[in-house]
This record gives sequence, structure tokens and C-alpha cells, in this order.
Amino acid sequence: MNAAPQPIDLSREAPRQPLVDPFARAISYLRVSVTDRCDFRCVYCMSEDMAFLPKADLLTLEELDRVCSAFISRGVRKLRLTGGEPLVRRGIMTLFASLSRHLRTGALEELTLTTNGSQLAKYAAELKDHGVERVNVSLDTLDPDKFRAVTRWGDLARVIGGIDAAQAVGLKVKINAVALKGVNEDEIAGLLEWSHGRGMDLTLIEVMPLGDVGEARLDQYLPLSMVRGRLSERFTLDEIDHRTGGPARYVRVAETGGRLGFITPMTHNFCESCNRVRLTCTGTLFMCLGQEDAADLRTPLRASESDEALHAAIEAAVARKPKGHDFVIDRRHTRPALPRHMSVTGG
Ligand code: SAM
Repeated sequence: MNAAPQPIDLSREAPRQPLVDPFARAISYLRVSVTDRCDFRCVYCMSEDMAFLPKADLLTLEELDRVCSAFISRGVRKLRLTGGEPLVRRGIMTLFASLSRHLRTGALEELTLTTNGSQLAKYAAELKDHGVERVNVSLDTLDPDKFRAVTRWGDLARVIGGIDAAQAVGLKVKINAVALKGVNEDEIAGLLEWSHGRGMDLTLIEVMPLGDVGEARLDQYLPLSMVRGRLSERFTLDEIDHRTGGPARYVRVAETGGRLGFITPMTHNFCESCNRVRLTCTGTLFMCLGQEDAADLRTPLRASESDEALHAAIEAAVARKPKGHDFVIDRRHTRPALPRHMSVTGG
């Protein structure tokens, strides 16, 4: 069993400098992959026979709390727990519980998560109690057989049950769907009407060439420019300024009244406004989802009970955050752009 994290009281610490990268972008958003494990094996995310990390390599829940709290003391206002599947990490509710103190002090604006929804029925009420207001649920299709094929192991009814439970306790749900050529491209209008009909925003994501998944990326890749073109034959898409702190750009769909987001790492690079860094469950900090450079935070974290070395390592890492990434999927680029899977860096 993981011990419950011991809270650090930020109000008693000397104020620290906010984190600003060399391109004058303030780092206000931390995404944390709390586990590399998942109960699904989505075809674009993982191979069927993934090798997972030994438990000893993972940061404990207490260590995760320490790193998150260090970032919050440096100006991170939004924290998203992800994975792997965050809700399969044992004891994860104790981390939500301890991090919620930063919501109460006002140091943190939002504590949230991205989930596949499989465990949401079990945890929705507790998440709400810990100050979570919104959850992102990844759902690429409403066809149970296709759902099983895409996730390899998933059960659509269970995920819908999770969404029902989340909405019943008052969590706002946003649906994230990866646009997949030949898989859900004919379903996107239906997914939009279904999401908006239930009061949920829908965000579409372009598939990124991360990790070897045993399938050719070109066979999966569907540019959102094409999806948007098709949707606009049927719906009126009005540009709006709505932002959630992430990379999505939103339109309002006049016919449904709901919001539709586009995350387009391939067709439109969104790096100029990047405010994010990502921590893996082993304490590796990636300054960019699409670049290899990373910083080890686990060593300074474990070297001392004081957070001085940790802060120094965070500062050094942010000082080399790259300007952006450049993914390419075409016939000449058939290998993954990066060897690591999305489940490692955290989506
Ligand atoms: N298990 C959780 C879930 O399903 O949402 C959190 C982790 S998952 C890696 C986060 C998001 O990344 C999901 O929406 C997933 O569809 C997306 N994702 C995974 N691999 C991707 C890839 N290669 N390109 C684009 N999105 C990807």
C-alpha cells in the first residue's frame, strides 16, 4: 500500500519566482502521468504486448505530491492527472485528496484528469469531493463492436456508465475523440450530436506518431482540416475565443449550441502559446510532448528532504524548453517521430 502523502503547506514557504521559459512563455499547466499502465490497449496508443515499468521505478504518491506542490509554488495553476489510466493507479484518491488543499488555498485554479472512463462510476463522487469540477473522457466511437476493436479490451457500456455517474454527481464532462481514418470518420457528426445532446463539449484530436503501435500511422491519420470541412457542410461552425488552458481551438456549433474543439498537432502547430510541461510517473519531466529532451526530477527529489535541488532541476529544465515540435506523417516518415508512447508522457 502507498502511504498517504503528507501535505506541504505552501503558505509557510518563501515565495518563489514563477517559471518562464526562454520564449517568455509562463509555465502554468502541469500534466502528470501517474502510471504507465492502462486497462485498455487503444490501437493508436499502445501495442498489444506492452512492457510496463517495474513498480520500484514509479514515484510514490507522496513524491508525486511533492513535485506537483513544487510546481504549484512556482505558478502552475492547472494540474491534470493522466496516464496510462490514472484511475487504475492504486491509492490514487489519496493523491487527489492531498492535492485538493491547493484548491482550497487558491494556489491552484483547477485539478482535473483525463480518463478512459472505465473506473469513473466507482470514483466520480470522490473526485467531486476532492474539488475536481471537470473530467475529460476519451471516447472514439459509440459503436460497441468498434469500441472493442479500437480499445482492444474496453467495454463501451461501462464507459457510458462512468459518464452517467460523473454527470450525476455534477462533474462537467468533455469528450475527447481521436480522429481515425476509416474507423470513426463516418461517425464524427453522430458523436458531436450525442455529446452536445448530453451537455458535453467534444474535442477532436489528430493522431500523433508517438511510439511503435504495430500499425502504420499513415493508415490511422485523418487530418482535422478534412473533418472540419466535412462537418461544415452539415453544421454551422462559428469561431469562438473559448480556451481551457490546453491546445484546443473551439467553434460553437449553431445547430446544437455546443462547443467543438480541434487539437491539431499535425496540421497546425500550436506551440507558440504552449504553457505546459509533462511529468512521467518515474519523475522525468518533458518540456515538449514532441521532443526527446527531458530532465530527471526523481534523483534530486530523492537526494534530499529539502526541495532546493528539485527546484534547481525544474528551473534548469524550463530554461531549455524548446520552441516547438514538428511531427510529420507521410510516406517517407513511416517510423514513430518519437519512440515513447503517449501513455508514457501522458496525453
Ligand atoms: N487513459 C486515459 C485516457 O484514455 O484518456 C489517459 C491517457 S491517454 C494516453 C490520453 C489521451 O491521449 C487519450 O484521449 C488518447 O486517445 C490520446 N492518445 C493516445 N495516443 C495518441 C496518439 N498517438 N495520438 C493522439 N492522441 C493519442
